[in-house]
Amino acid sequence: NNMNSVRRDEHSRTAFEEAKQYIPGGVNSPVRAFKTVGLTPVYVDRGEGSRLYDIDGNVFIDYVGSWGPLIMGHAHPDVVRALQEATVKGTSFGAPTEIETRMAKLVAERVPSIDIVRMVSSGTEATMSAIRLARGYTKRDKILKFEGSYHGHGDSLLIKAGSGVATLGLPDSPGVPESIASNTVTVPYNDLDSVRLAFERFGEDIACIIVEPVAGNMGVVPPAAGFLEGLREVTSQYGSLLIFDEVMTGFRVDINCAQGRFGVTPDLTCLGKVIGGGLPVGAYGGKREIMEQIAPTGPIYQAGTLSGNPLAMTAGYTTLSLLTPEVYARLEQISARLQEGFEANAREAGIPLTINRVGSMVCPFLTEGPVTNYDTAKASDMDMFKRYFGAMLDRGISVAPSPFEGMFVSGVHSDEDIEQTIAIHRDVMKSL
Ligand code: PMP
Repeated sequence: NNMNSVRRDEHSRTAFEEAKQYIPGGVNSPVRAFKTVGLTPVYVDRGEGSRLYDIDGNVFIDYVGSWGPLIMGHAHPDVVRALQEATVKGTSFGAPTEIETRMAKLVAERVPSIDIVRMVSSGTEATMSAIRLARGYTKRDKILKFEGSYHGHGDSLLIKAGSGVATLGLPDSPGVPESIASNTVTVPYNDLDSVRLAFERFGEDIACIIVEPVAGNMGVVPPAAGFLEGLREVTSQYGSLLIFDEVMTGFRVDINCAQGRFGVTPDLTCLGKVIGGGLPVGAYGGKREIMEQIAPTGPIYQAGTLSGNPLAMTAGYTTLSLLTPEVYARLEQISARLQEGFEANAREAGIPLTINRVGSMVCPFLTEGPVTNYDTAKASDMDMFKRYFGAMLDRGISVAPSPFEGMFVSGVHSDEDIEQTIAIHRDVMKSL
């Protein structure tokens, strides 16, 4: 079951040493450095479908998928072809193109809360802009977010954040002024009582709640029954906006995003990852009346030299066009099979394992569970995770180098990929 009979990493080691001389920590985004798992990052040569090929000649079945965007796998032929055709026409104009409207229309048709949508170039930009809009629209300064949620690296949102900041143990980043931090109220995920208490105390000053409708940056944590409905109710009662950060869940968990899957409609929605099809894209959208408060129709400013970039729109539009109900049915089926296989392996090996899964977001926590919020996610055994991660990688399975990130299954993972992954996982569980 060892796909790479011995995983070699000489070339990756050399590349990483060289990179550290010119790039902070050798990487352009912290978790890529494999710091907490104590290994050398794998330098990628190319990807194809479910596979990743590194510069040492190893091949991996990939469940990172560029941290979520690649729901149809690496270098999907339709996306590559569309990009080739678009590229020869020019890569950026800073002037409107028709693909932007086609993309906006498709997003508006599929996302229940979105009448109109503004494209940006990252998830961070989407959430920062949505927060500014919520503050400008309500004329209030405070926001409420959840512990262990990650909404990008905007100042207001880097408070008790998940993802890489949790992995590196830096929940409250230096460089965020106290005057900004003090306007961010945090409460535990899935804890409506704490939300209500916070609103009793600060409700008239709270511009918005921003929430991942399925948390994906403390590992995967589904919303408890009634949680999203409760947030909808509280925000409506206090005249605050409800923002769903669907950067990870958007078009990942359902063709109509998490809001379609759970039947709760926010005021504003942030998107990213999948809607860029592997190119840098984010977006925020919602009710027309609110969205038209941004420039040029309204006074709240937000802009971008490369926003709505034709290549990014092309990759995103092509990817969304591939996402049929059949693809989501298949994602559900193979992801459920992966979960069931992993659970059986852990039982057999006597390893404590709790798997949280929503559609193709699959998170194996090394703990008895249940995992319902950041505190219970942190119970995951970090030492065992390091051994698990290294063993999976050595045997040719690429998962995120953090216990606070789930696996992303793609529509191009074959049944054989899934079975091979389960077989390797079985050996790895026994070796722990
Ligand atoms: N929101 C969520 C829910 C995310 O998962 C992420 C990235 N993992 C972001 C925002 C930030 O997106 P980006 O990295 O594109 O800035």
